[in-house]
Formats: sequence, structure tokens, C-alpha cells
Amino acid sequence: MRITPEKMNKLDGKVCFICGRYLLNWTDNDLAYLKVHTGTKAKASPDMYHLFACPSCGKIAHKRCWYDIGEKKIKRGWFKKPDWRLTCPSCGTALAPETSERVDWESGYELPSHPDSEVYELHTPDVIAWKAGSAIGKIGRAIGGVFQAVGLGSVTDPERSEIARAAQRVGKTIQDVAERVFRLKPTPAERSQMKELKCQNCGAPLPLPGSLDDAVVCPHCGTAHLL
Ligand SMILES: [Zn+2]
Ligand SMILES: [Zn+2]
Ligand SMILES: [Zn+2]
Repeated sequence: MRITPEKMNKLDGKVCFICGRYLLNWTDNDLAYLKVHTGTKAKASPDMYHLFACPSCGKIAHKRCWYDIGEKKIKRGWFKKPDWRLTCPSCGTALAPETSERVDWESGYELPSHPDSEVYELHTPDVIAWKAGSAIGKIGRAIGGVFQAVGLGSVTDPERSEIARAAQRVGKTIQDVAERVFRLKPTPAERSQMKELKCQNCGAPLPLPGSLDDAVVCPHCGTAHLL
């Protein structure tokens, strides 16, 4: 179940109940490997990692943490293979029948009874995009609100020529620019933190403004944004 950037808000700020790290942070150890049957190891591409919520108590942890901590070895004697038991470290519920067939992490481990297709799947490029977008959201809140929408007719002459130049950079003219213009006044520090800007009208990614540019125009819908 792939978690798209639009759905990441509900994971924001929540921590893994096993390791205490943020669910939207990961390490190389968390990254998924594919099940390949030739004995080789193959990392999933694009990079992804998984989160699993205990069906009994609802607490969420990295799949790697379930692998490391949630699944325990049960020794059956010297000559027998050990069995593995997946239990929730929080509520103690047994989450799968015991098994002796445990696949290594790097051979494409899946949680017993809870295959990857049924757990949260996070693609790291999606998470990075979400974090960049939410940084812009925080800038918006920090300056006392989101972008302010103004009419194209109300902008000053210098702003109008900035918009015309920004339109030119995406192959448009001022005639193509939509009537509703969005205005944001970031400080230099806020501007330096911008990693991604989204069109306030259609949501398409905007070209990142150069440090001297005071406007960007959405190549998709022609909406201008004053910075
Ligand atoms: Zn964890
Ligand atoms: Zn639980
Ligand atoms: Zn747009």
C-alpha cells in the first residue's frame, strides 16, 4: 500500500514505537530488498521502506524494527532449526503463526502473515518531496498565512515586468498569465531553504526561482507567483 505525499500528513511527527525515530525518517538498514531466487541480493528501486501497524494495538514501527525486535527466536534444541515468533513488543499479541522459515532481510524478508503488499510502503523520493513541500507550507505559516491571492491588475509595474520575465522563462508571455496572482514575501533565509515550490492554483511543481528572480510562472497553468 503505497503512501503518496498527499497522505503523509498523518505520519508527520509520529515516531516508531520500537526505535523512537520518526516514521518519516529512515536509514539504509530500513531500505527494502527484493525477493530474488538466484541467491543474489537486489535493493528495491526506487528506494523504499515499509511501516507496519500492529493490528491489535495500532502502534506503528519500521518493518526493520519488527524484524530486529518484534520477531523472536525460539530455540527447539541443539539439532532443530529455531522457530520464529512475531509478537507485538507493545501489547504482546502474537501476530503470525510460528515459522522456521525465516528469510534474511537482504534476501527480501517479509513479515509472516503480513506481506509487503499489505503494509505501508514509503518511496524515499516521495518522502523527500513531501518534506520539501511541507517546508514551503511552514514558510507560508511563518509569514502569517499562505500565499495571498491578488488580481493581475493590482500588481505594480515593476512586479508586472518581473512576471513578464518569469513567463518568458517558461515559454509564455504576459498575455498567457492567469488573472489570479499569488504573492509570497520570503526572507532571504526562507528563500534559501526552498527546495520545491508548488503552483498555488494547480499544484504542479514550479521552476525554482534564481536568487535574483522575484516571480515564477507555472509552466502548466500560467499562474504567476510573486516572491
Ligand atoms: Zn523503528
Ligand atoms: Zn500491539
Ligand atoms: Zn499551475
